[in-house]
Amino acid sequence: MPDYDAVVVGAGPNGLSAAVELARAGWSVLLVEQADTVGGAARSAEVTRPGFVHDLGSAIHPLAAASPFFRTLPLEEYGLSWVQPDLPLAHPLGDGRAAAMHRSLDRTAEHLGPDGAAYKRLLAPLANRWRSLMEEVLQPVVHLPSAPLLLARFGLRALCPTPHLTRSLFRTDGARALFAGSAAHAARPLSAPGVSAFGLLLHAAGHTVGWPFPEGGAGALTHALAAYFQDLGGEIQTNRRVDTLDALPSARAVLLGLTPRQILRVAGSRLAPRYARRLARYRYGAAAFKIDYALSDPIPWAAPACRRAGTVHVGAPSTRLPRRSRRSPTATSPTAPLSWSPSTAASILPAPPTASTPPGPTATSPTGHASTPSPPSSARSNGLRPASETPSWRVTPWARRPSNGGTQT
Ligand SMILES: Cc1cc2nc3c(=O)[nH]c(=O)nc-3n(C[C@H](O)[C@H](O)[C@H](O)COP(=O)(O)OP(=O)(O)OC[C@H]3O[C@@H](n4cnc5c(N)ncnc54)[C@H](O)[C@@H]3O)c2cc1C
Repeated sequence: MPDYDAVVVGAGPNGLSAAVELARAGWSVLLVEQADTVGGAARSAEVTRPGFVHDLGSAIHPLAAASPFFRTLPLEEYGLSWVQPDLPLAHPLGDGRAAAMHRSLDRTAEHLGPDGAAYKRLLAPLANRWRSLMEEVLQPVVHLPSAPLLLARFGLRALCPTPHLTRSLFRTDGARALFAGSAAHAARPLSAPGVSAFGLLLHAAGHTVGWPFPEGGAGALTHALAAYFQDLGGEIQTNRRVDTLDALPSARAVLLGLTPRQILRVAGSRLAPRYARRLARYRYGAAAFKIDYALSDPIPWAAPACRRAGTVHVGAPSTRLPRRSRRSPTATSPTAPLSWSPSTAASILPAPPTASTPPGPTATSPTGHASTPSPPSSARSNGLRPASETPSWRVTPWARRPSNGGTQT
């Protein structure tokens, strides 16, 4: 008899989700993680100064908030609370103006002026049937669609290279930059087929579920998953790096929440040769780096929309954005790189920011995410609460609980 029904390697959001699903089905599950805590690239920690909680990887989670799987989990009971910024997204245009996405599609269209009607024609069919769209795009690429017209409409535009799509649909720098900045989340050249899918999905999500972040940072999401998993009887072992499957306890199934070459290293000898060759050929995408800043004050953006937005895309405004981002991932860095600066400072706050209490200080960096609460003095002057007065993100059922039904090593 095997030691477990399943062993899951890697406690990122995908490994955690797989572990939860199996445990929900009544399987005995061991989740093994090499780091000293769960979360993978969805973790939060004080990496600059005490009281400044930064997201180490992911920060803004429209697709997690929209996830049909997450909707079936009682994550709120385990400390997860979504914060909706006043505006999901802003993109400064370099002259004191900014293009902005509002939750409301109509308000965004109004804001985009001459491009409003085209923006609405592009997004309304997707936003209006958001649930059906998610169900379609989350299926394997080859499947029998239940909403074929919707999928075809989405697919045709998704395959269109972003520079072509934005140039053919929009006349203004604002609408072009707003959409291209979101498409660039694909981390591939904007001219690559399929990159526009990111723009379409992220904007349709913005007009339905918003671009929220977990109160307390991304770690609150993964800690809620871990806490629920443990309540289902699941076992978590951290600080345990797996180099070969032979080192694992016996199990009916082993799931590897890892990247292709990591899978090859850990399980290569047990894989079918053809599959192993495909993993070996896998090419990783462009590298990114981020800098976390601890700031004393909010960034004094010239455009008011940037002060209200949870995410600010900083990069070549105007029509030059698509052209510059057409470089291959291996090309030398552009002189004015595109960067993403989710302002998750408010994630340490108990209430979402409002127009009168703008999100706290944030940071810009080439392809960077940063989040920073204000130290007490400036926090007060900005109407923000200092970190010490707010609930700590670490205080989750999972973090508090001593070993319970499993091992926290
Ligand atoms: C800088 C950055 C910013 C991002 N921003 C966003 C965002 O704003 N919104 C968003 O939705 N997504 C964002 N993402 C993407 C998101 O973080 C990932 O899609 C997500 O974390 C992938 O989850 P995963 O479980 O597949 O892998 P990971 O999160 O990478 O987790 C894999 C886990 O496996 C563990 N592991 C690896 N090898 C072994 C081994 N041999 N033995 C044991 N354990 C092992 C790792 O330590 C890690 O914990 C961002 C990513 C990065 C890097």
